Parts: sequence; C-alpha cells; structure tokens
Amino acid sequence: MTQRTLAIIKPDAVAKGVAGQILGRIEQGGFTILAAKLIHMSREQAAGFYIVHKARPFYASLCAFMTEGPCLPLVLEGDEAIQRWRDLMGATDPAKAAPGTIRRDFAASIEANAVHGSDSPESAAFEIPYFFAALEICPR
Ligand code: ATP
Ligand code: MG
Repeated sequence: MTQRTLAIIKPDAVAKGVAGQILGRIEQGGFTILAAKLIHMSREQAAGFYIVHKARPFYASLCAFMTEGPCLPLVLEGDEAIQRWRDLMGATDPAKAAPGTIRRDFAASIEANAVHGSDSPESAAFEIPYFFAALEICPR
C-alpha cells in the first residue's frame, strides 16, 4: 500500500554535513520526496512535535537537542513507506542499529540519532501537516 511518512534529518546530521548522503539513501531506497524544507525550530515547536513524549524523562533534553540548529523535515512517499523508512533508519540507539542503517552510520547517541520517522499512519497524519501546508506537498 502506498503511504506517506514524515521524516526529519535532525540537527546533528545537518550540522555534520551528512544531509546529502542521507537524502541519497532515501532516493536509493525508492522513496519519492514530496516535500522538503530547512527550518530551525523554536523550543515551543519542538515541544509540540514531540508532545507524545511529554512524560518521558528525556523530553526536555530532546526538545533542546531538536532546537540546536536547523533540521530538514521531508514528506516521503512509497510502498509501505512508514515501516520501510523506519527500517532504513535503524534502531533508536545507534549502538543497537543494524549495519547499513542510517543511524548506525551517522548517529552519535540515542538522542542525537540523525533522523526521525513517523511510527504509524496516525502519527504521520499528525506530523506531516505539523510541518507542511497542502500547497507545499508536490504529489507525483
Ligand atoms: P523518532 O521518533 O525520532 O523517529 P524513535 O521512534 O526511534 O525516534 P522514540 O522512542 O519515538 O524513538 O524517541 C524519540 C526520540 O527521542 C529519539 O529518536 C531520540 O532522539 C530521543 N530519545 C529516545 N530515547 C531516548 C533516551 N533514552 N535518552 C535520550 N533521548 C532519547
Ligand atoms: Mg518515535
């Protein structure tokens, strides 16, 4: 089934200069990029995006990390895009991520882990319009 998912190349990866390599893996992975923009989130914008993690002990630190510099949200489309993008990202903790995954190759820690991906159709439905207006998404 064709799906859309919200991906983010996180501030650590943009700062390291590996956004282009990650975009290359996305394209090689057969995803179509429907939308992309570089943004520097405020604390309020990061807190709203990660509201599901409000009760987690790492919430404040995660929101601070996501505002350290610009990040690159993307809308990806493809067959089973939600799970396939999470497979390409690898496990949350790069030490546990499989060889060849983005987090294994580019992430420094469980927090500064290079990329984000929606974890369900419901979260994609919240996350895509969080960053992109309908006119910023280019269907193919
Ligand atoms: P994401 O939602 O960013 O795609 P994920 O679904 O693999 O990642 P979540 O459990 O949703 O992982 O956690 C959201 C983000 O919070 C992680 O990507 C990471 O940046 C941060 N995080 C998760 N667990 C920890 C932790 N134990 N300590 C610090 N930061 C964490
Ligand atoms: Mg998640």
